[in-house]
Amino acid sequence: MDLDLKQFIREIPDFPKKGINFKDITPLLADAKAFAYAVDSLTKPYISKKIDYVVCIEARGFVIGAPIAYKLGAGVIMVRKPGKLPYECSSLSYDLEYGSATLEMHKDALKKGDRVIIADDVLATGGTALATIGLAESFGAEVVDTAFLAELSFLKGAEKLKPHTVNALLKFDY
Ligand code: AMP
Repeated sequence: MDLDLKQFIREIPDFPKKGINFKDITPLLADAKAFAYAVDSLTKPYISKKIDYVVCIEARGFVIGAPIAYKLGAGVIMVRKPGKLPYECSSLSYDLEYGSATLEMHKDALKKGDRVIIADDVLATGGTALATIGLAESFGAEVVDTAFLAELSFLKGAEKLKPHTVNALLKFDY
């Protein structure tokens, strides 16, 4: 069955600030068939790829990454904003257009040689995913791929992640 998933992504102009055309994935999550189809399609390339963990980016990345991990028989690792994770953390700061941001992962989350996928809902400029790759690699983990429901191709995030590869179900050029 082929399903046109784009019809389940709602565009919200000027959210959270002017000039951002926000891709709202909540209609897709709320539709049982669309959600199952999206998770199945995102998971397919990794079956028999011996993935140990899916590293999920707060917060919508948890919703996408956790079912992928479940289907692969892999674990879930949460990447969160500072102060949210309860145990000791490794952190990585990265530049935004204005200012900077920090992401954290528990310091015992990964070990050398772990094979991981990074998961989030939307790949925009790629800054968040690149920082998450950096965090995972700082443990010596191998980032096998990055997986997203949607890629905003005009922002060239995939270029920024090279040589890492991007598995995005939907591409938007606006
Ligand atoms: P970036 O670091 O620019 O790739 O931004 C990635 C993060 O911001 C992801 O966690 C996305 O959920 C979110 N994001 C950025 N732009 C959008 C957008 N236009 N629509 C929905 N989410 C977005």
